[in-house]
Amino acid sequence: MRVFFIGFGQAGGKIVDMFLAMDRKLQYGSFRGIAVNTARTDLMGLKHIEMKDRLLIGQTVVKGHGVGTDNVTGAKIAADEIDTIINAIDTRGTHDIDAFVVVAGLGGGTGSGGTPVLCRHLKRIYREPVYALGMIPAPEEGRLYSYNAARSLATLVNEADNTFIFDNSAWKNEGESVKSAYERLNEELVRRFGVLFRAGEVGKLGVGEMVVDSSEIINTLRGGGISTIGYAISDVITKSKPKKSIFSGFGRKDKGENLLTGEDKSAKIIGLIRRAMLGRLTLPCDYTTAERALVLVAGPPDELDRKGVEKSKSWVEENIAGVEVRGGDYPVDSTYIAAVVVLATIGNAPRITELLEVAKETKQDVIRSKERQSTMFEDAIDPLFE
Ligand code: GDP
Repeated sequence: MRVFFIGFGQAGGKIVDMFLAMDRKLQYGSFRGIAVNTARTDLMGLKHIEMKDRLLIGQTVVKGHGVGTDNVTGAKIAADEIDTIINAIDTRGTHDIDAFVVVAGLGGGTGSGGTPVLCRHLKRIYREPVYALGMIPAPEEGRLYSYNAARSLATLVNEADNTFIFDNSAWKNEGESVKSAYERLNEELVRRFGVLFRAGEVGKLGVGEMVVDSSEIINTLRGGGISTIGYAISDVITKSKPKKSIFSGFGRKDKGENLLTGEDKSAKIIGLIRRAMLGRLTLPCDYTTAERALVLVAGPPDELDRKGVEKSKSWVEENIAGVEVRGGDYPVDSTYIAAVVVLATIGNAPRITELLEVAKETKQDVIRSKERQSTMFEDAIDPLFE
């Protein structure tokens, strides 16, 4: 899939930077991206997005210092400068892309406020689908972050064609702070979404057993709402002729003799897909509520197996709410096989419910605190002047 990424805010910029680095390393050339921010230093910290593709907005308002956690100002700046952002996207070229993906941490200010605004305008201007990829904050980051994320997400689900969620709290380890985990979290995120977004592109090894093209990804995401993805990998069992070893002929089996039969290959792929779906999802949720799904396998050509993908699709279909399950595979030069399951348009995710609850409580507290402030001086001394 040819993707145009827009990294909005600090987290968004960092992640798009990593997607571009990965794309270059694997020599696919199917990703392009820009970064948009109100904070100059965040833009300077990026490595792989070209300088001309780093856009500083809101200079007259915040003078390059960022909006802090004020996502209302983030949204306002994005709306005021939407022409500049669209211009930067157009300059980079959009005629050959399959989709836009706007990436942001939803708990902050710039990305949280700007992403829904940008998605709305992208959808109005272009025919290609517009997806958001939002990181939601861990509760330990404080209630303001949860409040921001809930407001941003509630707006986003109406503006983007689909919103992928990555839950920071589900991915950090016990006792680890979110900040110290960022790098690891970002790698996990980019690895998973990289397998998905590269699907449908022809790499140097050609096409797979069962080609999946970008229209299948788009159709899977057609239902809107929020989506999550699962991932699993497995070592490849070498298929090469056994090398002569000092143990040859002494009744000991070489690793190279473990030739996989068709049945084994299918079983391996089904096992991988099950692990991907039942393991840790980017947003942990009740997978049985998913409306649609996409099953993807990427691995060395010898390991790919059409029957395995077909059987995996049936298994996923039996386990989700909807009946539309798509799937396919593509070859990669690797010693691993990777499987991704996209669970699209999910109906129930406890972390999102929790986020909305915290946001409601926080809103009430903010209102109460404002009321207290406004009545504090009511019966007090007369001001010097009115
Ligand atoms: P912005 O620059 O105002 O858009 O805000 P940030 O991107 O700095 O932060 C917003 C949210 O994203 C917070 O909840 C952070 O925990 C989260 N965040 C910040 N940096 C990263 C990162 O590198 N990775 C991940 N996964 N989350 C991040």
